[in-house]
Amino acid sequence: MEDNVSKIKDRLDVVDVISGYLKLQKAGMNFKARCPFHNEKTPSFVVSPERQVWHCFGCSKGGDIFSFIQDIEGVEFTEALRILAAKAGIELESFNPAVQDDKARLCEICEAATKFFEKQFLSSIGKQALEYLKDRGVTDSTIQEFRLGFAPNDWNALGTFLKNCGYSESEIVDAGLAIKRNDGSGIYDRFRSRITFPIFDLNGQVVGFTGRIFAESSEALAKEEGQAKYINTPQTRIYDKGRILYGLNKAKMDIKQADQCVLVEGNMDVLMSYQAGVKNVVASSGTALTPGHLTLLHRYTTNLDFCFDTDQAGAMATRRGIGLALSQSFNIKVIEINDKECKDPADLVKKNAESWSGAVSQAKPVLEFYFNKAKAGFDPTSVNSKKSVISALAPFLKRLNSQVEKAHWLSQLAFFLRVKEEAIEADVGAAKDDLEAYDREPVLVDVSPKSVVASDLLSETFLSLVMKNPLLFKNNLKDINPDLLDPYTAEAIAKLTATFERSERSSNPMEQWPHGRRRMTAINSDNIADFLKDFRESEQSPDRKAIEDPRQSRDYKLEFAYLKSQEFWKDSKDEELKIEFNNLISKLEERYLRTKLEKIGFEMRAGDDKEKNLALAVEANKILNRLGEIQKT
Ligand SMILES: [Zn+2]
Repeated sequence: MEDNVSKIKDRLDVVDVISGYLKLQKAGMNFKARCPFHNEKTPSFVVSPERQVWHCFGCSKGGDIFSFIQDIEGVEFTEALRILAAKAGIELESFNPAVQDDKARLCEICEAATKFFEKQFLSSIGKQALEYLKDRGVTDSTIQEFRLGFAPNDWNALGTFLKNCGYSESEIVDAGLAIKRNDGSGIYDRFRSRITFPIFDLNGQVVGFTGRIFAESSEALAKEEGQAKYINTPQTRIYDKGRILYGLNKAKMDIKQADQCVLVEGNMDVLMSYQAGVKNVVASSGTALTPGHLTLLHRYTTNLDFCFDTDQAGAMATRRGIGLALSQSFNIKVIEINDKECKDPADLVKKNAESWSGAVSQAKPVLEFYFNKAKAGFDPTSVNSKKSVISALAPFLKRLNSQVEKAHWLSQLAFFLRVKEEAIEADVGAAKDDLEAYDREPVLVDVSPKSVVASDLLSETFLSLVMKNPLLFKNNLKDINPDLLDPYTAEAIAKLTATFERSERSSNPMEQWPHGRRRMTAINSDNIADFLKDFRESEQSPDRKAIEDPRQSRDYKLEFAYLKSQEFWKDSKDEELKIEFNNLISKLEERYLRTKLEKIGFEMRAGDDKEKNLALAVEANKILNRLGEIQKT
């Protein structure tokens, strides 16, 4: 696998790969963009063609092309490898473990089924289904783009076709396309006499289907037979409905660009919205919004606009979805369809495509939406009515991240209900939270391993400053207390100091570098990163690799510091660097002393040994004096 990684890295350029997702702007030696992983107005996402790395100074994410694809596509390493291998035109042999083969096979089956369903539009009953779609306003190109199809009214049509393609009955069942007969006499097709909507994963592979009955008559028939209007592929090894959003494969870049995602109910809503030009749209088809969905969306935006059936907007599932999204720091708006003839976005687009984009642009902040709803049925003379307004809004108010927003709505409520703000705040705090049950489910917030490895920004900044002009600080470095820095930075500085000392002792100006790989006369800002890379390779012991994901943070810390040295200090003169150096040392020392002070305080409270406490107090006093000195300078 390692070999594949380097082969791919040789062929692909980090700038090209990332340009496929973001608009990069040249800025000096590097490229810049607004970070796709956090909200920002000024770009702090930097891509270095020289180092073949990327790093965001805002949220500290960074790495190589593999970690970029993992983060932006929301995939595991092996999948990122597959995507990049395809891009590089490299065939991956022998890396697919059995599991991957098995999943690939299920995807193949779904792909074959998609082609089969697409062809059925040509049959006489298939033509009726096609007519129905056109009646609903779906265009040919949308049908093709979303690869809609038709499952014939036959218990074995698809099954037989797939078996003829060489797939076994159990594989067809595993792909979710057929069901085992109870009596053990084989399988039968899951989707019959339905329009089929393939469900794609983020990479555009079909992993499942939604089947929809298509005519009024068959709707009535279905009702009689107790069939659902929609059926979905069940959970399979490739289709996890809690982690797949319908349309996201197409919408992801539009969502990122608009920094906003429109969430609708059904597959038809997605494709009609898409057709009307509102392309940043997805649906959680057939399931309530899950934490997994939100984790997925978080990669692309934190602005979520809900559009649900008007009578659904008050429904528990919607309220819970909104509550969940609020507690995951999404900004929520609600899109309303104010047209009695249209119950959903699909209807509205069919009637008038522009009124849909209009409705989207007029989305209201979620609190405003629920506040207006509560106002509508409000009786100012009734205490109970006041209480019910508060309890309707409390779960959302509690979950607001912004204190400003919270304060705004509290005062609005106080004004409206003619009750003191403090009283409202107290009631909101005490209100029964009907969304609570949902929250207790495991919430899979995206805490990426990279952020777990504490990134010590102060140390990083310090290292970046030294890297800008190492010779300038040659004489200062050896006096620095390593405890001030994170262990990694301390190690790097120690190595640097040792190299300076060695080159002073040596009369040979062509001093051998630690690894013997390069011979250079002096360390300067241009070759420092390579020097430190050598250091990294020579110092990395196997057990250290085991502690952290070897491809992650640790490996890139030096690279990030180096990027910072290019970006932050590029126009700084030596004098300014020196001043900054002293400032940083002070800050590092202050931080170190404060931590020490905290520890002493803790020890003093914990112990009752008088003598020891006295000694601790003396030490604390010393530290306080030193802190005072630092602050004076
Ligand atoms: Zn960022």
